[in-house]
Amino acid sequence: MKKIVKALSILLTCLSLWDGYSQNVQKPNIIVILVDDMGYADVGFNGCKDIPTPNIDRIAKNGVKFTNGYVTYSVCGPSRAGLLTGRYPQRFGYERNPQYRPHDPNMGLPKEEKTLAEALKQVGYTSGIVGKWHQGADISNHPLNRGFNEFFGHLGGGHKYFPEDLTIKDSYAVDNDEGMSYKTWIMRNHEPIQTKKYLTDEFSDEAVRFVEKHQKNPFFLYLAYNAPHSPLQATQEYLDRFPNIEDKKRKTYAAMVSAVDDGVGKLLDKLEALNLDENTLIYFLSDNGGPVKSNVASNGSDNGVLREGKSSIYEGGFRVPFAMQWKGTVKPAVYDNPVSSLDIFATTAALSNIKINKYKPLDGVNLIPFLTGKNKSNPHETIYLRKFDEKGYSVRHKDLKLVLKRDAAPELYNLKEDIGEHNNMAKQNHKTVKKLEAIRKEWDSQLIEPIFGGLKISKESEIKEDKKY
Ligand code: CA
Repeated sequence: MKKIVKALSILLTCLSLWDGYSQNVQKPNIIVILVDDMGYADVGFNGCKDIPTPNIDRIAKNGVKFTNGYVTYSVCGPSRAGLLTGRYPQRFGYERNPQYRPHDPNMGLPKEEKTLAEALKQVGYTSGIVGKWHQGADISNHPLNRGFNEFFGHLGGGHKYFPEDLTIKDSYAVDNDEGMSYKTWIMRNHEPIQTKKYLTDEFSDEAVRFVEKHQKNPFFLYLAYNAPHSPLQATQEYLDRFPNIEDKKRKTYAAMVSAVDDGVGKLLDKLEALNLDENTLIYFLSDNGGPVKSNVASNGSDNGVLREGKSSIYEGGFRVPFAMQWKGTVKPAVYDNPVSSLDIFATTAALSNIKINKYKPLDGVNLIPFLTGKNKSNPHETIYLRKFDEKGYSVRHKDLKLVLKRDAAPELYNLKEDIGEHNNMAKQNHKTVKKLEAIRKEWDSQLIEPIFGGLKISKESEIKEDKKY
């Protein structure tokens, strides 16, 4: 009997030691800093000269700068749905910007899809979203009902920045009016609250508070700044940093980006002060390309050499500033193979042992083996984009890219030699066009049609409205 008791006691000691061990080896924290409508060339790490972004650049310097980082769509809502689910949003009919409809449970992210926050909840993470939601304004789609533990932000696709402009207390009192939704009070969880500062500063402070509060447990922070999306509004403090920019639009845009950069700095400083920086993966990216001059909602952004901008199926629409750091694990580098916002979910799933529903497979990959050099192949042979309403497609296969537009002949570009997509080689390369067309068709056969109407009042205004938001 004594022997059995002794054996049991040794076993219990081992178990408690094991338990202690497993608690000490903390799952990594995940931070996604998503900015809104920022141009490819508007960060220092992509060569920006007139807007210093020293703090955003810290992420690229500490970690990896992705030169070929893509999102899944060239406007806000669907792009965010792709990031949050790790799946091409065209698979589940999320192919238009949702209307602001607080009493329509089907307007927004379908309930059948699981968000990263929902998945992380199952493995013990606490998740918070600070900033823009844009995945449906009905309460059934509220972030707290889609896996997040905390929410501080707004439900719609954009927001005014000055507290005095936020005049509508109840976010659910606005119905199908995108412009009015920009004026609602900020919500903390389900409560409307009166903010006091410039909105970007409010979001930065909240992000720092979230990290402080949850420093002891694995967390996921989705810091989704609505900046530098229009309306173009900045405080004098930030405007004064750019005395040499004469163009008013560019100057205000620069001030808005600078405010985001300050916020990123505060957050990185806090992580370092709490000694969390080696146990935290931090991503920085934009949800789509900058709306350049031809866009009705141009914000003064610059996509550099990339063709066109927000809403486009050319590179300027969905190749975005993209960087990530994981100090101590991923060495600083520049990574040129195509990666996607889809990879954020897949990487997190691999690191935190999330079980994936086999009927809803992820479209991304775990990036870590590629970034540590363990896997030298290409994370994505093909990067896709479909814009259903325009019958537009972009299929990037390795360095070749097929562009299809309604009622137009196919276009083919070699992105390695022709990043600006100036030299259409389709006529001389029928076989390649045919091959990429077959790849497109195979992907397209897996997609469904859009399941909700977008920001359109009439056929004529459809594309205009879609570009705007
Ligand atoms: Ca956007």
